[in-house]
Amino acid sequence: MSIIEEEKPKLIATKIWKCKNAECKAWVRDEFANEGEQACPICKGPMHRSMRHLPAVQNKIKKAPKKPKSEWE
Ligand SMILES: [Zn+2]
Repeated sequence: MSIIEEEKPKLIATKIWKCKNAECKAWVRDEFANEGEQACPICKGPMHRSMRHLPAVQNKIKKAPKKPKSEWE
Protein backbone atom coordinates (compact mmCIF):
# COMPACT_ATOMS: atom_id res chain seq x y z
CA MET A 1 0.00 0.00 0.00
CA SER A 2 1.35 3.37 -0.90
CA ILE A 3 0.24 6.74 0.13
CA ILE A 4 -0.21 9.11 -2.72
CA GLU A 5 -0.17 12.70 -1.74
CA GLU A 6 -2.73 14.44 -3.78
CA GLU A 7 -1.86 17.97 -4.49
CA LYS A 8 -4.92 20.04 -4.14
CA PRO A 9 -4.49 23.44 -5.67
CA LYS A 10 -5.80 26.25 -3.58
CA LEU A 11 -8.80 27.86 -5.10
CA ILE A 12 -8.95 31.56 -4.87
CA ALA A 13 -11.70 33.92 -5.88
CA THR A 14 -10.50 35.46 -9.09
CA LYS A 15 -11.96 38.30 -11.09
CA ILE A 16 -12.95 37.18 -14.53
CA TRP A 17 -14.86 38.38 -17.53
CA LYS A 18 -17.61 36.08 -18.59
CA CYS A 19 -19.53 35.98 -21.82
CA LYS A 20 -23.09 37.18 -21.45
CA ASN A 21 -24.27 34.53 -23.83
CA ALA A 22 -25.50 31.67 -21.65
CA GLU A 23 -24.68 29.16 -24.34
CA CYS A 24 -21.16 30.45 -24.65
CA LYS A 25 -18.81 29.23 -22.01
CA ALA A 26 -16.06 31.66 -22.75
CA TRP A 27 -14.43 33.57 -19.97
CA VAL A 28 -11.12 35.24 -19.41
CA ARG A 29 -9.13 36.17 -16.37
CA ASP A 30 -9.36 39.83 -15.54
CA GLU A 31 -5.60 40.09 -15.40
CA PHE A 32 -5.36 38.84 -18.97
CA ALA A 33 -8.18 41.00 -20.23
CA ASN A 34 -7.76 44.29 -21.92
CA GLU A 35 -8.90 47.37 -20.14
CA GLY A 36 -12.30 48.67 -20.93
CA GLU A 37 -14.98 46.81 -22.76
CA GLN A 38 -14.47 43.15 -23.29
CA ALA A 39 -15.55 41.24 -26.34
CA CYS A 40 -15.95 37.51 -26.17
CA PRO A 41 -13.07 35.80 -27.97
CA ILE A 42 -15.45 33.17 -29.28
CA CYS A 43 -18.73 34.82 -30.17
CA LYS A 44 -17.51 38.42 -30.07
CA GLY A 45 -20.42 39.24 -27.80
CA PRO A 46 -20.34 41.46 -24.74
CA MET A 47 -18.86 40.20 -21.52
CA HIS A 48 -19.48 41.07 -17.94
CA ARG A 49 -17.45 40.95 -14.79
CA SER A 50 -17.76 37.92 -12.63
CA MET A 51 -15.91 35.92 -10.06
CA ARG A 52 -14.66 32.41 -10.28
CA HIS A 53 -12.76 30.18 -7.95
CA LEU A 54 -9.60 29.22 -9.72
CA PRO A 55 -6.42 27.53 -8.67
CA ALA A 56 -3.81 30.02 -7.71
CA VAL A 57 -1.41 30.83 -10.48
CA GLN A 58 2.21 31.41 -9.97
CA ASN A 59 3.39 34.89 -10.56
CA LYS A 60 4.03 35.54 -14.19
CA ILE A 61 6.73 37.98 -13.34
CA LYS A 62 9.65 36.38 -11.70
CA LYS A 63 10.99 38.53 -9.00
CA ALA A 64 14.70 38.30 -8.89
CA PRO A 65 15.70 37.59 -5.36
CA LYS A 66 17.82 40.28 -3.90
CA LYS A 67 21.23 38.94 -3.37
CA PRO A 68 22.91 40.27 -0.33
CA LYS A 69 25.98 42.16 -1.27
CA SER A 70 28.82 40.04 -0.16
CA GLU A 71 31.98 41.62 1.01
CA TRP A 72 35.18 41.17 -0.87
CA GLU A 73 36.67 37.86 -0.10
ZN1 LIG B 1 -19.19 34.29 -26.11
